[in-house]
Amino acid sequence: MNYYSLNHQSPKVNFAEAALRGQAPDKGLYFPESIPTLPADFIQNIKQYSKEEIGFTVMKPYVGDSIPDDVLQEIINQTINFDFPLVQVTDAIASLELFHGPTLAFKDVGARFMSRCLGYFNRNAYHHTTVLVATSGDTGGAVANGFLGVDGIDVVILYPSGKVSKIQELQLTTLGKNIKAIEVKGTFDDCQAMVKQVFADEQLNHKLSLTSANSINVARWLPQQLYYFFAYQQWQHEQAPVICVPSGNFGNICAGVLAHISGLPVQHFIAACNANDVVPNYMNTQVYEPKPAVATLSNAMDVGHPSNFIRILELFHQQFSELKTAFSSVSISDTITAQTITNVYQQFNYTLDPHGAVAYYALEQYLKNSPSGARGMILETAHPIKFPDTVEQATGIAPEYPEQVKHLLSQEKLSVVMDAKFEDLKEWLMSR
Ligand SMILES: *Cc1c(COP(=O)(O)O)cnc(C)c1O
Repeated sequence: MNYYSLNHQSPKVNFAEAALRGQAPDKGLYFPESIPTLPADFIQNIKQYSKEEIGFTVMKPYVGDSIPDDVLQEIINQTINFDFPLVQVTDAIASLELFHGPTLAFKDVGARFMSRCLGYFNRNAYHHTTVLVATSGDTGGAVANGFLGVDGIDVVILYPSGKVSKIQELQLTTLGKNIKAIEVKGTFDDCQAMVKQVFADEQLNHKLSLTSANSINVARWLPQQLYYFFAYQQWQHEQAPVICVPSGNFGNICAGVLAHISGLPVQHFIAACNANDVVPNYMNTQVYEPKPAVATLSNAMDVGHPSNFIRILELFHQQFSELKTAFSSVSISDTITAQTITNVYQQFNYTLDPHGAVAYYALEQYLKNSPSGARGMILETAHPIKFPDTVEQATGIAPEYPEQVKHLLSQEKLSVVMDAKFEDLKEWLMSR
């Protein structure tokens, strides 16, 4: 499998090179040259396969010859060694819980897969690769955890000071070893802008071998398809599900659409957004207008210029009519988000996190306007404990700390505090 740049000004590359570069030299996102079709009997008999077999079958065509089969299988086994339960909340709505990984966020799968692939590609390298990433909350922890202790790789994470939750901050500042956290006195957009400037800086690129671990990287984006296959394995109904995904940078839902095009039955996709409504607006007006992100209760989706949306357009051959049939997008306010956490807890005794709540409300509304018998699922992307204040306020009950994070509470935060200035970051990187 080769990958082309969506800006069409760079040569095609294989999986290894796409993963190592992150972004094409022309600044475009890499996109697979062809989308594999899965055998019909694989989908039909999906319940008979193990997670590991599904993982290999789905990922092999994308990885091609970049990784030998036995190594790829081992990478997949390590990536998905936790549960992905589909929990029924009401008769019509189920929740695919993607928060049972080590950092309690769905990003664990992408980060674990990518880190192990890069570890393999770097196995004989004589110099270190620096993975640079900006986080609005969950990416940092998942990436830090995924790369912790991987030989030959240093990780530098930029996060906005005071704008991530306590658990999120501890997850990315307490690991030490090859992980460095930079606490930026600014917003997520500032962090993202600083990272972009680093990638564009000749001197830094000359000194450091740099790559990005944001969801534009194919090694993070593509394995997210697996959730949708694991969900379908647990789906008990004849009619295909409506799938609603809380979306920020649109990598997760884009992977779902890819899985669907490969043959996975899905009735409709809903991208549920918070007040950051660039894509919902686009779906109404066909005008794509990025704007600065605004802060919301579902902070991991506070994105004003979703990078992966362009891949969704490509999947639908840049045809709006095609896109519109399969895909819709809505914006949900913080007030409704909090109310939904309250209602779902009171009526069904199920605790949503703010991201899951955005998706829940969007799906509920969609199903109300669908023919009876339509059913769906939300992707519950984070554990409620990562947003304890919001959840406690909405339910009256403080969520309990699960085992994966209890130990963090006693650890000391280690960060490098920095102004939101590229020059300061450059100086810091150059002096390492
Ligand atoms: C990152 C994240 C999202 C958004 O996912 P995208 O792939 O960026 O659309 C949603 N929920 C949580 C909890 C996240 O961490």
